[in-house]
Formats: sequence, C-alpha cells, structure tokens
Amino acid sequence: MADLEEVLPALAAEMAERTDRGDVANYIPQLGKIDPQRFGIAVALTDGRVVAAGDADETFSIQSISKMFTLTLALGKVGDALWRRVGREPSGNPFNSIVQLENEQGIPRNPFINAGAIVVTDVLLAGHQPREAIGEILRFAQFLADDDTIIVDREVAASEQATGFRNVALANYMKAFGNLQHAPELALGVYYHHCAIAMSCRQLAMSGRFLAHGGRNPATGHSVVSAERARRILALMLTCGHYDGSGDFAFRVGIPAKSGVGGGILGIVPGVASIAVWSPGLNENGNSRLGSIALEKLARAMNWSVFAP
Ligand code: GLN
Repeated sequence: MADLEEVLPALAAEMAERTDRGDVANYIPQLGKIDPQRFGIAVALTDGRVVAAGDADETFSIQSISKMFTLTLALGKVGDALWRRVGREPSGNPFNSIVQLENEQGIPRNPFINAGAIVVTDVLLAGHQPREAIGEILRFAQFLADDDTIIVDREVAASEQATGFRNVALANYMKAFGNLQHAPELALGVYYHHCAIAMSCRQLAMSGRFLAHGGRNPATGHSVVSAERARRILALMLTCGHYDGSGDFAFRVGIPAKSGVGGGILGIVPGVASIAVWSPGLNENGNSRLGSIALEKLARAMNWSVFAP
C-alpha cells in the first residue's frame, strides 16, 4: 500500500496546479467570496494517526456535511420513528428540488437533501428553543472532533437566511402536508445555523472517526452510536450523500461520503479512515469538483473501497 505521508502532499500539489476548479456556491453570497484556489485534505486513521496536506487547518463552511451530525442526533432522539417522516432512497434530483414533494405527500426522499434535512432539524427542535437546538448540534460536532473551538459562522448563516427562498418554499410546502411540527422559520433558522458550522479538514476528519470505527471513537473506545446504526448512516451516505451525483461518486470513488456546497466532503473507509477534503469550486451537482477528483485518486492510490476487500 502507498504511504499516506507521501500521497497526500503529492495530491495537494497536483490539485494546486489544476485550473478546472468548478464554481463557488454564489447563491449563498458569503460563500461566493471564498477563494477557489484553496485545497485541503486530512485523513484520520483508526490507528490514531492523522495525516494532512494543503490548507487542512483552514476552516470552511461545512454546509450539508452537517446533515450527517443532525441525522445521527435525530436517530438518537427518536430512533426508527424518523423513517415515518423521511425516506431513505436516493432522490435523483438536485439537493434543493421541490418536485418530488407533491407526489410523495411532503415526505422527503432522504435526510441529506435539503427537504429531508429540514425535517430532521424539526425533530431536533422538539422540546427546545432554536438557540438550544443549535447549541446541541454544535456541541455534538465539537465532541466528535474532540475540539471545542469549533463555531458557527454567523455571517454565513445570516447570508443564507437572507437568500434562502427555495428552502422557505420547501419548509412551507412540508408544513402544508403536516410534516413540520414547528413554524417553518424556526426549523429554517436552526437549519441555516448548523449548515454554517465552520470546520477545518482536520477537525472534520476527526469528527468522522466514529463512522470508520463501528460507531465508536477509536481514541477513547466510547460508543457514539451502535455498530448497526453506523452501518446504516454509511449506507445513506453512499446512496444519497452526493444528491443526484451519488451514483457517479460511488462508481468513481467507492466509499460512503457526504458533501456540502462549501466545497467540503467527508468520506469514510470502514475500519480504516475518516477523510475530509476541501476545495470550494463545485461541479454541476453542487459537489466539490476537485474534492471528488482528489478522493478518487486517493482511494485508488490506497486501494480503498467498500467494494473490495
Ligand atoms: N445550506 C445549504 C442549502 O440549503 C446546504 C446545501 C448543500 O450543502 N448542498 O442550500
């Protein structure tokens, strides 16, 4: 097997040279200001080592990668009852699409598209003020990464709140079907803030270790979720983590992963590693263009795949 200490810097150098970097997500004005030249990657191995290269310590907006945190928390809160309100099928549609909601009575296809994540957020709001729910999600990210310096970038949250008309439509539509318990603006407020959590590749890779290690933190041995739940979260990441690009990502990279429009991707090699990569330019499905390419190259170099021993 190739040596990660050599592979990652070489990959970062190769990615720095590329000019086909995609486009930053300027539908959220604050994200439109990010320098597309940035590239970072970090790998947290289950043996405790962390190897990083490029801008791995620079924080970025994790956006939809936070939907892994919220899904994990919501399953902890309501268990399988969650599946009465959210499906677990790939949507084959863009992350912010409304088209399936009418035919499917306001039940979003999966917890990783925007509609599904807004329902998951509504679950986390139950019994809490929005501020408390945001705090709970942030503390969970800090706990998983073992780093309490992680914060919510309030400017990004405000920027999305000011322009999130599609999300307002999704939330109102689901409310009309009776699939939101709280006022749409409350669920959306929490949703925008958890999407606006800022983390570095190193912090994000650390936060995914429990998924690479059967639901346990490999450093402490403490259980975060059961092994079965970890497997199921990974199954959803593989099938739905890249929206209408999920099939192509599985084909090219072959590991479960969750992307965000901030240009980050969290990928998991079960038993081996939690990987975070960041390059702000996106492809046509809203997934990091160079991030996907870097993960494809890394998986090939290390022979990492869930489809091979
Ligand atoms: N906050 C973003 C949105 O709602 C998240 C989308 C994403 O990362 N794919 O549009």
